[in-house]
Amino acid sequence: MKDIFETPITYLKGVGPKKAEVLKKEAGIETFDDLLNYYPFRYVDKSKIYKVSDVTSDTTWFQLRGKISNLKATGAKRAKYITATFQDETGEIGLVWFKGLRWIKDSFSPEKTYTIFGKPSVFKNRFNFVHPEVEDFIEGEDEMLGQRFEGIYSSTEKLKNSGLGSRGISKLVRQLVNQTGESILENLPSYLLKSQNLLGRKEALLNIHLPQTPAIIEKATRRLKFEELFFLQLQILTGKQAIKEKSKGQVFQKVGQHLNEFYEKHLPFELTNAQKKVIKEIRKDFGSGKQMNRLLQGDVGSGKTIVALMSILIALDNGFQTSLMAPTEILVNQHFNSIKILLQNMDVSLALLTGSTKQAERKIIHEKLINGELDILIGTHALIEETVTFKNLGFVIIDEQHRFGVAQRAKLWKKSTIPPHMLVMTATPIPRTLAMTLYGNLDVSVIDELPPGRKPVKTVHFFESKRLRVTGFMREQIKNGRQIYVVYPLIKESEKLDLKNLMDGFEHIQHDFPLPDYLVSVLHGRMKAEDKDYEMQRFVDGKTDIMVSTTVIEVGVDVSNASVMIIENAERFGLSQLHQLRGRVGRGADQSYCILMSGNKVSNEGRIRLETMVRTTDGFEIAEVDLQLRGPGDIEGTRQSGLLDFKIANLAKDNVLIVKTRNLAEKILEKDPKLNIPENSLLKQQLAKLRKGKQQWAKIS
Ligand code: ADP
Ligand code: MG
Repeated sequence: MKDIFETPITYLKGVGPKKAEVLKKEAGIETFDDLLNYYPFRYVDKSKIYKVSDVTSDTTWFQLRGKISNLKATGAKRAKYITATFQDETGEIGLVWFKGLRWIKDSFSPEKTYTIFGKPSVFKNRFNFVHPEVEDFIEGEDEMLGQRFEGIYSSTEKLKNSGLGSRGISKLVRQLVNQTGESILENLPSYLLKSQNLLGRKEALLNIHLPQTPAIIEKATRRLKFEELFFLQLQILTGKQAIKEKSKGQVFQKVGQHLNEFYEKHLPFELTNAQKKVIKEIRKDFGSGKQMNRLLQGDVGSGKTIVALMSILIALDNGFQTSLMAPTEILVNQHFNSIKILLQNMDVSLALLTGSTKQAERKIIHEKLINGELDILIGTHALIEETVTFKNLGFVIIDEQHRFGVAQRAKLWKKSTIPPHMLVMTATPIPRTLAMTLYGNLDVSVIDELPPGRKPVKTVHFFESKRLRVTGFMREQIKNGRQIYVVYPLIKESEKLDLKNLMDGFEHIQHDFPLPDYLVSVLHGRMKAEDKDYEMQRFVDGKTDIMVSTTVIEVGVDVSNASVMIIENAERFGLSQLHQLRGRVGRGADQSYCILMSGNKVSNEGRIRLETMVRTTDGFEIAEVDLQLRGPGDIEGTRQSGLLDFKIANLAKDNVLIVKTRNLAEKILEKDPKLNIPENSLLKQQLAKLRKGKQQWAKIS
């Protein structure tokens, strides 16, 4: 039996091929089902008629009743727009149309009374409704209408031009509901509806579109959010299950000579409890016979490297090679150097492979990889090249995960017949609820504790007026042998302006910190890669005192002698960026400082960001605030994933429901992994439908 909701939208009365095309392009609506799931984003109380004197510049909608007069076409010979005056007993406002002019000119009569509906804007010094909805007022219609709340649907310019503004869409939905409402089927088992106190699906859908009371809107919303999040979690968890079942993994059972030797003789410090916990989690995965797919989250400086290294040694004890991949040469060099130092007294061979590795050396590395002489390969994308072949790659570590695409990671998999264990490390903390969905099919480990004795970076916010004090402080720090970062914003839209800001700043600093006493580096995105690396290296080697740069230094660079991070126009940076930047200092034993400079005018949101930075150094707390401020769409790495095409749920706001649906889905699958119990049959059906549908769950790991 064909599902009536799969019917193409053209079969709906009032939708011809043209409208169908626009609906598809502009709103992704192709079928009855798509339209049914196109929910209003807000509601207006249509029972209330406002007076013109009530209209304020609030961005809310007003329904008014009165007369329309003074219709005038304006703008040279061929009218560009039409204006009119709308009037009730309390005053008048303007009406403006830019489209459909011919039709509008002859459609209003000054004798009639109209009900108009719109959002005020200020135009030529008075309130106007642009493209208001206008209806003839018919005596007694209020009672006839019956419906108090009207859903407002999001629309676009093109939709509006095709008669599909909010009203137009609403009409289609009404039509659809009348035609098919009785056929709407439940997709949640009754035990869930009962235990979670949820509205039935039909009731929820009818009321999300055509509600009578605020209370029912809330109930319908909750039910539909629940449905969306719950099935998302079911998809994620069953997907993860399937991967686990299919994927065989190398079994690293032994803990052998390498790890023991390192642990007993060369471990430079005691591991934190968090590090121990994570190593345990990794060991468990290694021994499970399934491929490990683990995300390791740990704030900058939390000590991920040692965890990575000890895992590498376990792989080695079991006879396997490891490759570690990072996004930039500088990062790769740093990894290479720190691991080399940690392993200096051990008989373990490692090599570095980047874009600048010489051909001859490259050849030697390739050979050693194939014959197994090389235990660890550390490198950039160069690692992925087809020519790189391992004898037995057993473990892959990827640093800074969001810079590598899924496809790139998949390439690494192919480098061995049984897929290698995979550890993805990131210093960008992701709120738990977001990680649950975004990285749903990875297991997540968290290093939530910094090594002891670390002094938290002291953070202050200064307005421009304190500039002199800051300069004095910088001199003092440099006199004590410290190095300083000064970072300028880089926002794509105004790249030229930003570059100018940076270069002006550079000049000021050169002026305030003159040669030969001070050496200043500069670094920005327009420079050639070699020049960037050269400048950066000079700073890393302590040859310059101040590094003036844009955010190109953001990722992972480690200069432990740098103790001051000055961020100019800090109000223009996002929270996660501020946090990443601050993470560049505080890596050595000395007290470090982060100075957030801002202009005097800071938006509310900007103020919250700066206050948050001053208040806390906890990356997870900062990530949570960030999520609340910006919503999930802007959080690093989420945009491309397509995981955020929610119809009604909101990753930032629906924390409670996310956790709840996750737990429920886990419990159900624990009892009934294949959803074969009759009471779960609806779930199984819905999952199958979703899999078949548009949402293809890319393998994240
Ligand atoms: P991440 O890569 O997570 O930013 P690193 O692994 O580079 O952090 O570690 C940051 C610094 O802390 C390094 O200098 C490292 O030697 C040191 N470190 C790591 N773990 C510990 C520990 N348990 N005790 C003391 N110092 C540690
Ligand atoms: Mg690191």
